[in-house]
Amino acid sequence: AAENLKSSNVAKIKVVVRKRPLNKKETAKHEEDIIDTVSNSLTVHETKLKVDLTQYVEKHEFVFDAVLNEEVTNDEVYRETVEPIVPIIFQRTKATCFAYGQTGSGKTYTMKPLPLKASRDILRLMHHTYRSQGFQLFVSFFEIYGGKLFDLLNDRKKLCMREDGKQQVCIVGLQEYQVSDVETIKELIEQGNATRSTGTTGANEESSRSHAILQLAIKRSVDGNVSKPPRVVGKLSFIDLAGSERGADTTDNDKQTRIEGAEINKSLLALKECIRALDNDQGHIPFRGSKLTEVLRDSFVGDSRTVMISCISPSSGSCEHTLNTLRYADRVK
Ligand code: ADP
Ligand code: MG
Repeated sequence: AAENLKSSNVAKIKVVVRKRPLNKKETAKHEEDIIDTVSNSLTVHETKLKVDLTQYVEKHEFVFDAVLNEEVTNDEVYRETVEPIVPIIFQRTKATCFAYGQTGSGKTYTMKPLPLKASRDILRLMHHTYRSQGFQLFVSFFEIYGGKLFDLLNDRKKLCMREDGKQQVCIVGLQEYQVSDVETIKELIEQGNATRSTGTTGANEESSRSHAILQLAIKRSVDGNVSKPPRVVGKLSFIDLAGSERGADTTDNDKQTRIEGAEINKSLLALKECIRALDNDQGHIPFRGSKLTEVLRDSFVGDSRTVMISCISPSSGSCEHTLNTLRYADRVK
């Protein structure tokens, strides 16, 4: 375990694909599983029509850092994605874990348990390895909807973002809770998720158009001076992104939907560009492309880690969205 505490041992960017099982609705419509997985590669079998209307199958093969099939549990997802990052948060690292994919592909199912598992491990490190070293754990949870920020732990209060000139982003008025036990964290996560899905319109409809951002921050008093506010040492962010298909809502009849679709499209493109820039160690990272990337700015500078979990449905009916998701993941890699 000692070698795990060294940040240089953890990949800077990791791209993982998670395939969920076929669900009842898909089975009822006689849709088939068109995804084969072997180790860290995956093949999509796309059925196409020739000009004479006979069918043929086109295969698309992809390779990622890991491919998690429908039998993989949430515990295994945690072990593959976030667990290796947790120890290095104590070494000034900022890490971000994204769930990308179309609505219904399993983003929330995948993301929901991760912060809880991570905070359990963080608290364990704080209470044992880093005992009496003055570390504190803070939780915040907000969403970006139509380019605006709302606090999910404070009745969806509208928030503003400010930059302090030292590459630090500050979300004014964001509620941060100091937590020291897993039970409290669990309650906060449930509260935030409930606030997220019971917005003004329909439940799933609403959450598929917003990015939900849960942040775990480790702080410590400067030089043991407890009279001053503690400073952020490391941060772990979990981002349940808006449904990727929503980015195509730019031709919808409803004006509000079009505006939101354009914003989602912009933010997913900007995110891709930022991660690619990180990977190439480019000095310039195009944060300003969207609210999402601006908010995450301080998580992309310095010693940062990114995990992208691309969620896909196995079904023939989702083939086009699945290929889009895999191509996006492929560009990030
Ligand atoms: P999204 O957040 O991408 O819209 P959800 O996470 O809400 O999708 O998943 C859609 C449905 O599929 C939910 O009912 C969820 O419980 C189920 N589901 C998703 N992934 C899995 C999985 N790996 N195993 C079993 N059920 C899953
Ligand atoms: Mg969801």
